[in-house]
Amino acid sequence: MHQPALHALTATDPELAGLVESEARRQHDKIRLIASENYVSTAVLEATGTVLTNKYSEGYAGKRYYEGQQFIDPIELLAVQRAKDVFGVEHANVQPYSGSPANLAIYLAFLKPGETVMGMGLPSGGHLTHGWTVSATGKWFNAVRYGVTKETGRVDMDEVRDLALAERPKVIFCGGTAIPRTIDFPAFAEIAREVGAVLAADIAHIAGLIAGGAHPSPVGHANVISTTTHKTLRGPRGAMLMSDAEHASALDKAVFPGLQGGPHNHTTAGIAVALKEAGTEDFRTYAHNVVANAKALAEALAERGFDLVSGGTDNHLLLIDLTSKNVAGKPAAKALDRAGIELNYNTVPFDPRKPFDPSGIRLGTAAITTRGLGVEQMPQLAAWIDRVVTAAADGDESVVDATAAEIAELLAGYPMPGWA
Ligand SMILES: *Cc1c(COP(=O)(O)O)cnc(C)c1O
Repeated sequence: MHQPALHALTATDPELAGLVESEARRQHDKIRLIASENYVSTAVLEATGTVLTNKYSEGYAGKRYYEGQQFIDPIELLAVQRAKDVFGVEHANVQPYSGSPANLAIYLAFLKPGETVMGMGLPSGGHLTHGWTVSATGKWFNAVRYGVTKETGRVDMDEVRDLALAERPKVIFCGGTAIPRTIDFPAFAEIAREVGAVLAADIAHIAGLIAGGAHPSPVGHANVISTTTHKTLRGPRGAMLMSDAEHASALDKAVFPGLQGGPHNHTTAGIAVALKEAGTEDFRTYAHNVVANAKALAEALAERGFDLVSGGTDNHLLLIDLTSKNVAGKPAAKALDRAGIELNYNTVPFDPRKPFDPSGIRLGTAAITTRGLGVEQMPQLAAWIDRVVTAAADGDESVVDATAAEIAELLAGYPMPGWA
C-alpha cells in the first residue's frame, strides 16, 4: 500500500487512487534503472504533500508581492541555506520549476536571442536545453555543439577549445544526460575564461554524487550551476540554480520575474528536506555506493560481451551500444521492461540509427542503490539483462515471465520508501 496511506484520495477519487497504488506497486516490483530516477524518502513525500501548495509567494524572502509569508519565507530560506551548505556555493535559487526552465533562466540572464551558446550535442549525451535543434534554446539562439570522439567516447577538450575560439559563445554549457565519465570542470573553466564566456555546469544527473563527494564539484570553476533536485540528489521534482555572488542577481531576476510566477512552496519544502538528508554521513555512503554499483554492473556486463560507450563508467550511468548483441535499443528496452527491468533506449555517439529507434540503452544505479542493492547483486543483474537482451535478439519471449518472477522475489527483501 502507498505510504502515506491515501484514505481521502481513495474516498474522493477511487479511480485516481487506484492508478497511484498501481504505480507504487510497479515501482516496488521492478528493478528501476532509469538513470535520471530515484526513490525519495517518506519525509520528502510528506513535505511535498502539504498545505504549502495552497500559498502564493511571488518574489523572494523579504520581498514578496503577497501577504502571509510568515512561514513560507523561513521555509525557502532553509532550503537556500542548506543548498549553500551542501554544495559550498555563495548563492542558491530554489524556485525553478524544473531543470529545463532553470536552464532557460541562464539564457535569459546572460544571452540575447540570436547570440551564441555552446553545449554538448544531444546525440553525444547533451541535454535538449543545451541548444539542441528542436529546443527553444536551439531555435532562438545560435547554438554550436561539441561531441565526443569516436575512439574514446569522451569529450575532446582540444576540440571544445577550438570551437569556442572560433565561435566565441557567450555561454558554455558542460554536463549532460548520458555522460558516463567525470566532467572536467577545470578544463571547461579555462576555455570559458579564454573566450570570456559564462560557464554553466549542468549537474542535473550527478548532483547527488557531488553532494556526497563521489564526483568532483564544479564550485570554483563554473560561474553558474544548474541542477534538477530529483535525480541522484533524491529530492522532489524541481531544480536549483547556484552561483558565485557576481552572477546571483542576474539569475534571480531571470527566474522571477523573467520566466516564472509563484514558486511551488510544497516542492521547496521537499527540496529543503532532501538537502538535509544529502548533508548526512549516510548520504555520503549512498553516493559512493551508487558509483560502486555502477562500476560493478559495468564490469559484469562487459564480461558478458556488452559494448559500453567509453568502456565503462566513473559515475552512476552506463551507456550501452547493443549493435554487438544484434538487437536495437527499443526492442531490448521493451523486453527488459516486460521482464521487470526498467530502463530507456538511447542514442549512442555516432549512432547510425534514428533517435526514436536508436542502437543503445542507458541505465543508472541511483534508484537500486536507494533500494539497498549492493555490488554483490550486480553479477545477477547483469545475467538477467544478458538473458533478456539475448532472447529479444532471437524474438524469444519465453524468458520474460520467469525473469520478472525472480526479480520480484529478490526485491521483496528490499523495502521501498512510499510503499508498505
Ligand atoms: C534532466 C535534465 C534536465 C532537465 O530536467 P527536467 O526537470 O526534466 O526539465 C536538464 N539538464 C540535464 C543535464 C538533465 O539531465
